[in-house]
Amino acid sequence: MAKLSSIRLSGITASPGIAIAKAFRLNNAHYEPSPERVADVSIETERFRQAVEEARLELEQIRAMTEERLGAAKAEIFEAHLMLLDDPDLIDPIIENIENESINAEFALYDIARSFIEMLSSMDNELLRERAADVRDVSGRIMSRLRGVSYAAVTAINEPCVLIAEDLTPSDTAQLNLDYVLGFVTEIGSRTSHSAIMARSLEVPAIVGAGKDASGIETGTMVIMDAVEGTVIIDPTDAELTMYQARKQAYDEKRRELRKLLDQPTISQDGHRVELAANIGSVEDLQKVIENGAEGIGLFRTEFLYMGRNALPNEEEQFQVYKHVLERMNNKPVVIRTLDIGGDKELPYMKLPIESNPFLGLRAVRLTLSRQDLFRTQLRALLRASVHGQLKIMFPMIAVTEELREAKRLLQEEQEKLVQEGIPVSGSIEVGIMIEIPAAALAADFLAKEVDFFSIGTNDLIQYTMAADRMNENVSYLYQPCHPSVLRLIHMVIQAARKEGKWVGMCGEMAGDENAIPILLGMGLHEFSMSASSILPARALIRKTSQVEWAGYIEQVLSIGNQASIQQFVKQKNKE
Ligand code: PEP
Ligand code: MG
Repeated sequence: MAKLSSIRLSGITASPGIAIAKAFRLNNAHYEPSPERVADVSIETERFRQAVEEARLELEQIRAMTEERLGAAKAEIFEAHLMLLDDPDLIDPIIENIENESINAEFALYDIARSFIEMLSSMDNELLRERAADVRDVSGRIMSRLRGVSYAAVTAINEPCVLIAEDLTPSDTAQLNLDYVLGFVTEIGSRTSHSAIMARSLEVPAIVGAGKDASGIETGTMVIMDAVEGTVIIDPTDAELTMYQARKQAYDEKRRELRKLLDQPTISQDGHRVELAANIGSVEDLQKVIENGAEGIGLFRTEFLYMGRNALPNEEEQFQVYKHVLERMNNKPVVIRTLDIGGDKELPYMKLPIESNPFLGLRAVRLTLSRQDLFRTQLRALLRASVHGQLKIMFPMIAVTEELREAKRLLQEEQEKLVQEGIPVSGSIEVGIMIEIPAAALAADFLAKEVDFFSIGTNDLIQYTMAADRMNENVSYLYQPCHPSVLRLIHMVIQAARKEGKWVGMCGEMAGDENAIPILLGMGLHEFSMSASSILPARALIRKTSQVEWAGYIEQVLSIGNQASIQQFVKQKNKE
């Protein structure tokens, strides 16, 4: 008899796509050893040390493989794992536990790792919470060596499946064989977790945060994962299977169609040209930028160059990276943002003061102005690289004109020093700022006089306007790109820039949001910068939207009182 019902779960789309296959459940996380007395603690500690060494060998292999497949930056996470194997804060208490309690290595490891993971997971800080995943990964790997079982069962997968896991560790993600793993679903995790970021680089469909019920999915159960809507259907009915097979075909066909726009210009239906650029965090992201037909880089988040290491990158190292990006982009515009550290992005080795409100604290340009040594090093590296392409320098988190003037003064000083040293610097570097603080948006008319361009950082602008932490799920309902207050601020910024004859872009996630694009086009935004995979869908949308028509709707849009009605308005107009 045909099945009549299925179970549906919803989660967060970490990487889009649709997959239909049998589930493969990863069980690494669930082993709980019992405490056992051991007769000889020295044999037991030796057994533990041996397992650590075997884990090290495995990790070194995975690191090399990841570097080959995904590049050096993505492989850096395994440096952190290897460092954990040498971390006395983790390893010493385990050995002491074995020695003092005469207990088995498995339990000593389980006990100490668990308290570490609990402590890190309860932290208020996203990065420390991600550290918990690293400890889980490393301790799980040592545990498997102790038990003599294979750790990452992902390597054993040899038929098409949708992978289900509590949380997929970065090492699992790096080892996925994409001939077989058609997508993955995790119980926990966020869009910014390491595995989510890797899934986007690999372009494999992924849903994270699908909740505890995902653990009930047994290996072999048929599942549909719709990582466009963020839905998982367990044990689908025949009707659902037929429907989703058709949807998958349509989705894949649409992706193929979009590829035809690769070399096409981004021109609205009525002939108005805008620039579609990409956001990057590392040199490795450039491949996808080029494959997706970006017309430039609208945001290079340089802080990732400073992260996942033990010391600041020096001038030469930075110069090489900036030069490489400029050369690879072949004279297309490249906006490089100076260091935006603080808030959710930390540099443990800088030992910055602990703040109770880091998003409102010593962040981005506030920090670099107070640590001029590191700011000057970055500015010199940028200035030296400027002769290798079309560089634009951007300062993040500007709130007041004085910060902008001070940053420009330091840039000018470094430029003069270089010229004196006989080092060439381009004469046509544009200097701009991010508008991501409501104060800067409201005073954009003053700021516009002193810059070459603005780029609106909506990820922060929304959080500061709505007073809703961008990482906090409890207030995510307030994170509204199309709230009238946000749209009015954006409108003010665009008008202020245009009045001074300056160009204005947007590099927050909103720039790739199809509900927002027609409004932004109508308001006169010049440049849209987004993750590489959003570029072709955005180009397709802009090509069928009339700029003049949407310019005519702006007054009406700005008079609507809530996000839902504004989004409804956009949908309605797009249908007409
Ligand atoms: C933004 O705030 O919109 C932005 C692009 O910067 P980040 O996400 O790096 O804070
Ligand atoms: Mg920002």
